[in-house]
Amino acid sequence: MKKVSIFWFRRDLRLEDNHGLYQALKENENVLPLFIFDKNILDKLDNKADARVDFIHDQIGKIHQELAKKGSSILVKYGDPEVIFKELLNEYSITAVYTNRDYEPYATTRDEKVTRLLNKNHIQLHRYKDQVIFEPGEILNGSGEFYKVFTPFSKVWLSKFHSAKPEEFKPMHWKNLLQTSALELPSLQEISFTKSDISIPSKTADEDIIAHYNQTRDFPAKKGTSRLGIHLRFGTISIRKLALKASELNATYLNELIWREFYMMILAYNPQVVDQAFKPAYDRIPWRNKEEEFAAWCEGKTGYPIVDAGMRELNSTGYMHNRVRMIVASFLTKHLLIDWRWGETYFAEKLLDYELASNNGGWQWAAGTGTDAQPYFRVFNPTSQQEKFDKNWKYIKKWIPEINSDKYPKPIVDHKFARQRAIDTYKSALNQ
Ligand SMILES: Cc1cc2nc3c(=O)[nH]c(=O)nc-3n(C[C@H](O)[C@H](O)[C@H](O)COP(=O)(O)OP(=O)(O)OC[C@H]3O[C@@H](n4cnc5c(N)ncnc54)[C@H](O)[C@@H]3O)c2cc1C
Repeated sequence: MKKVSIFWFRRDLRLEDNHGLYQALKENENVLPLFIFDKNILDKLDNKADARVDFIHDQIGKIHQELAKKGSSILVKYGDPEVIFKELLNEYSITAVYTNRDYEPYATTRDEKVTRLLNKNHIQLHRYKDQVIFEPGEILNGSGEFYKVFTPFSKVWLSKFHSAKPEEFKPMHWKNLLQTSALELPSLQEISFTKSDISIPSKTADEDIIAHYNQTRDFPAKKGTSRLGIHLRFGTISIRKLALKASELNATYLNELIWREFYMMILAYNPQVVDQAFKPAYDRIPWRNKEEEFAAWCEGKTGYPIVDAGMRELNSTGYMHNRVRMIVASFLTKHLLIDWRWGETYFAEKLLDYELASNNGGWQWAAGTGTDAQPYFRVFNPTSQQEKFDKNWKYIKKWIPEINSDKYPKPIVDHKFARQRAIDTYKSALNQ
């Protein structure tokens, strides 16, 4: 049997500045890169033309080509990771397995199972920090507890960051890759998916956008945000390089990267938020959950132009501007009194940049149920939000061509009435 060490790619789909890969190559010879299309995750996706799967497949193809230039390859499998590792144990003599840490509940359980299996075979799973600057547990308050509020968390984050700036992991010891002819890559069809017609934003961080981010980020008609979400999600860019760039160019942008880690930390310490309100009293809210209203929201037919434009942008591109995400989430939970979990699930299906921690955090923020959330009595007025952030109707006209015709629906609910109903409903649920 061939003696190898394995580097297991997950949400770190790049060769450069990849912490776990760097360590594997530094400490071993004959490193075999591995990627597993995880059946447990893929089976839950109803849309078989999911753009994210297509994107991952594409990235693995690129890694495959780059490794071929180095005389190596990537082993790509499809199935349950634990079962795949059992098979690999019969095919190879494995000295060690390297990977980067993933903090989501499913990933944590999966890694525990794989660790147990490997340990039984006297093999270690070495895990490294790669997808964050500071991982859950690194930023704690004076009593050693996690922060429930963002501002003090961000202050400690920034002071730690500035006192020891992250460095790129290099040089990569490519000579330690297993030398092999190209291994076979399964096609999208072989993993039960097809190509998507949604296009993926570029992974090149636009310095001009980042430099002006604080002035442009709130206006959905402008190209004023970086659109790097999907690349951060799947690790096709390095968070270390991006955070260093942000710290030179724009403090507001860096602050958003801290929100990302804040929500990852909240999820890691409170895995129950996946299906419960962070503040348990908010699970007493009697959501109205009217199916036909939910359908109108999903389709962008509520009669509130900024809400509808956002939902249509999401449905056709897999992206929605952050300001508009806040408006549509507030509208669903407060104006329509529909459970935030419904909206969260819909976003999870559609967003290219879907990230459990940020999506859950964003929804619970908007619904008022989360940590450091928008207070329940603050209800966004969609019309004044539109006047402030899309005053020339540019964004709205782009997504709702029939806006000025009688084909466009009347408002699904009166704003003043819905606002009061939301406040009364929340108040009485919380006072029980
Ligand atoms: C209801 C709701 C749901 C959301 N769901 C997600 C999600 O599934 N995945 C996701 O990455 N973000 C989510 N966000 C946060 C934010 O809207 C997106 O990160 C952002 O719009 C992505 O666009 P961008 O890449 O151009 O970001 P930019 O504005 O250019 O920001 C750069 C990066 O910073 C991070 N970031 C920015 N804002 C936030 C934030 N508020 N919270 C956490 N991270 C942030 C993201 O990684 C983002 O890519 C959600 C927000 C709300 C209100």
